[in-house]
Amino acid sequence: MSGKQLEKIYDPKQVEDRWYRVWVEKGYFHAPLAHPGESYTIVIPPPNVTGSLHIGHALNNTLQDILIRWRRMQGRNALWVPGMDHAGIATQNVVERKLKEDEGLSREDIGREKFVQRVWAWKTQSGGTIIQQLKRLGASCDWNRERFTMDEGLSKAVREVFVRLYEDGLIYRGERLINWCPRCLTALSDIEVEHEDTKGKMYHIRYPLADDPNTSLTVATTRPETMLGDTAVAVHPEDPRYRHLIGKKVRLPLTSREIPIVGDSILVDLEFGTGAVKITPAHDFNDFEAGERHMLPRLPLLDQEAKMDPWGLRDAKVEDDLQQDLTMKPVQKARTIVVNALTGRNLIEKTEDHKMALGKCYRCKTVVEPYLSPQWFVKIKPLAEPAIKAVEDGRIRIVPESWTNNYLGWMRDIKDWCISRQIWWGHQIPAWYCKHCNKDAIFEGQVLSAKGSSASTVTATEKRTLFISKNANFIVARQAPTHCKNCGGHNFIQESDVLDTWFSSALWPFSTLGWPEQTPDLKKFYPTSTLVTGLDILFFWVARMIMMGLKFMGDVPFRDVYIHALVRDAEGQKMSKSKGNIVDPLHVMEQYGTDALRFTLASMASPGRDIKLAEERIEGYRNFANKIWNAARFILMNLDGPRETVPPKDRPFADRWILSRLNKTIRDVNAALDQYRFDQASSHLYQFIWHEYCDWYLEMIKPSLQNKDSAEAKRTRQALVETFETVQRLLHPFMPFISEEIWQTLPHHGESIVTQPYPAASPEWDAKDIENEFAILEQFVTTTRTGRSLLNYQPGKITATYGTATDHAALNTLQKLTAHLSHLGKATVQLLPVSQWPAQNVLRLIVGGLTVGITVEGDVDLRKALERVKKQRDENAKESSRIEGKLGNTEFTAKAPLEVVAEHKQRLQALRQEQELLASSERQLQEMMK
Ligand SMILES: [Zn+2]
Ligand SMILES: [Zn+2]
Repeated sequence: MSGKQLEKIYDPKQVEDRWYRVWVEKGYFHAPLAHPGESYTIVIPPPNVTGSLHIGHALNNTLQDILIRWRRMQGRNALWVPGMDHAGIATQNVVERKLKEDEGLSREDIGREKFVQRVWAWKTQSGGTIIQQLKRLGASCDWNRERFTMDEGLSKAVREVFVRLYEDGLIYRGERLINWCPRCLTALSDIEVEHEDTKGKMYHIRYPLADDPNTSLTVATTRPETMLGDTAVAVHPEDPRYRHLIGKKVRLPLTSREIPIVGDSILVDLEFGTGAVKITPAHDFNDFEAGERHMLPRLPLLDQEAKMDPWGLRDAKVEDDLQQDLTMKPVQKARTIVVNALTGRNLIEKTEDHKMALGKCYRCKTVVEPYLSPQWFVKIKPLAEPAIKAVEDGRIRIVPESWTNNYLGWMRDIKDWCISRQIWWGHQIPAWYCKHCNKDAIFEGQVLSAKGSSASTVTATEKRTLFISKNANFIVARQAPTHCKNCGGHNFIQESDVLDTWFSSALWPFSTLGWPEQTPDLKKFYPTSTLVTGLDILFFWVARMIMMGLKFMGDVPFRDVYIHALVRDAEGQKMSKSKGNIVDPLHVMEQYGTDALRFTLASMASPGRDIKLAEERIEGYRNFANKIWNAARFILMNLDGPRETVPPKDRPFADRWILSRLNKTIRDVNAALDQYRFDQASSHLYQFIWHEYCDWYLEMIKPSLQNKDSAEAKRTRQALVETFETVQRLLHPFMPFISEEIWQTLPHHGESIVTQPYPAASPEWDAKDIENEFAILEQFVTTTRTGRSLLNYQPGKITATYGTATDHAALNTLQKLTAHLSHLGKATVQLLPVSQWPAQNVLRLIVGGLTVGITVEGDVDLRKALERVKKQRDENAKESSRIEGKLGNTEFTAKAPLEVVAEHKQRLQALRQEQELLASSERQLQEMMK
């Protein structure tokens, strides 16, 4: 006897909070070092400290929690390491905005130290909302092990990695073109730039030859304002039109400079364009490389806010009047001025429309400029090679496998990683400059015009408080150096740049476990087991973790990388505030309950590229939760009385059947989770619980509960407890809250479902023969129900049903199960050969090998019944031909997932059976009407 009761209606709010608190208090999520089980570890993709839970997080963390809960229940020492990322630019922007709004101050107004203090204060107060939201989602993280990328331990790991990479010659400082956001005033890595198709113009500009002004070369550009910084023109060395010009000079229009004509077969395509290409090393990535090849000077024209820089214009020897007009003009404005000046001199040959991909900052959508600046880089090839190998030889498995080629392709083509960012919030680079030795290379002050002496070291105006030129000498060390080995001085200045946020998250799988210390955690839990992540950070994060893990731990950071799809709206559109199509997980949890959201996300996590999420699906799984709840209430109401256990073979038919089906479901769910097929696992659970368990099994056992003290009732109660308790455990990783609430009311051992064993299949429960018998029963009952609806009978209205089967075994089964047939079909069933049925007024339905007869009595309107049959036949035929069409389409069968094709075939078969049945009843109704 349980004596416990459940509320009439399932109220998630009343349940979720309560259980989550208990789980945490009892320490169920903690993975102790002393645990005897094999460890199973996942590190969370650390959400941004500024973050708030969106549907993508909800999916990502639901899947991780399913894996962790499942493995924990399987007896593994399951550790889910939680934490947050300091999110450099994002966080700095938030605090900067707040400072401006609240106090009208900029970060420069209060200075670096005070600003960083403000960020920490902000983090303590408002940061980390997302952690609370993850708890709301049911995430069973080991909160004792929560980490932050800027905490002391992780900062130490970052410094250690930087120093070791430097010592191994894998970090260098150099002047390079980088992607620069003129709004955020920082460098961006290649993958932080988003490309957007834009309409622009292509200008064809004539450059007169220096020694023959009547002849000119025509170059084409979409950015005429940068022509002022040209330092050469390239032609193809095999171009018969121009090759004789190599070595000569052109006069660069609007300036007083002459620039060389060089031969370059990389930059110039013989087949394409005008045959001559301008080279602007300071403003274009390809030109930068061409400039290196031909040792050309670099002339930057823009300052860091992408305005025309007066010193740059001067160094480029732009005509005086024009210099004045252009000074401090933004790019667009400068373009108009330059185009007008060229037009005035008849130097524009033609202008045409041109489509191009414009790079924008992923944070603020400002157009990104290639910008010449001293930066820090990781030499990546030596790190990438082992990371390629680890995936090639299967030490790391990417799931779905189809993404493996994306990974390998990208890794083979990888470029050095620009790791410095000109912001204040982050890990400051552990490099120091001796002020004495670098007195010509360090520029300090509010507004600087930091200039080198020769053209090749020129940089644009710097408004930073500190600028250190590319020629400066530095010391990389774990701690601030005390004296300069060169001059003995003590006056140092630390590099002001901080590291790319992804630098610290690249260390996450080992830094969170205590590295560089050789901690017991590190020994026990590294390498981790599975990484669950979205495709969008495969390169930002996953690839870099693999490189760093191999380099510093000598082993892969994880065995499996499971990549899930992106969540889109019901039409497959990206969710965005402006489109108003966002599904807010917090709102959904409030409205439908957390378990409904989790089950929806799991059920949609198929291995494709996109998930199309409609809110109706969530509602549907809320109904699923209610169905489970109602089943629990029914069971609890019937548990009053003693129970008796008997071996599986001696159990009644219904119990043997449900145990066999449950066993199959247990097998299927475990196998699906093993393959990261969350969608299949949820589908097995749903089909079993809703249809087999609730619709059939609970119906079938009702009569045996009638006499409370009968042996039958005792056994049934036992079966109910056994099966339903198992179902709760099977369901728990997907729907943790409702399963715990129900489990607690059922007779059970132990204090919480969280730490119970996950169901494993037991072969003695298998009963294939019973399942085959059930299939006959199901067909008979379904046919009876169809007949009932054709004749428009209300439940209980049919008084008699006749049945027979052509096959002897099937007939035996029907005989054995007559009581079930009568109960489920809600009519007395007589099994007689058709010849012994009443000759009149029995509608015969024939399907498969079964014939079911239903007495037609009272005021049945045969004409209407016939109409219903015809209508159903029409609908059936339409659907059949639609499915046949699909299955006949090779494109569909080749592209659709296997199980979708299988479902279609199954459905078609069912439709054909129904068609058979309807045809037989149509014939018979027509007979009867004669
Ligand atoms: Zn930006
Ligand atoms: Zn020195």
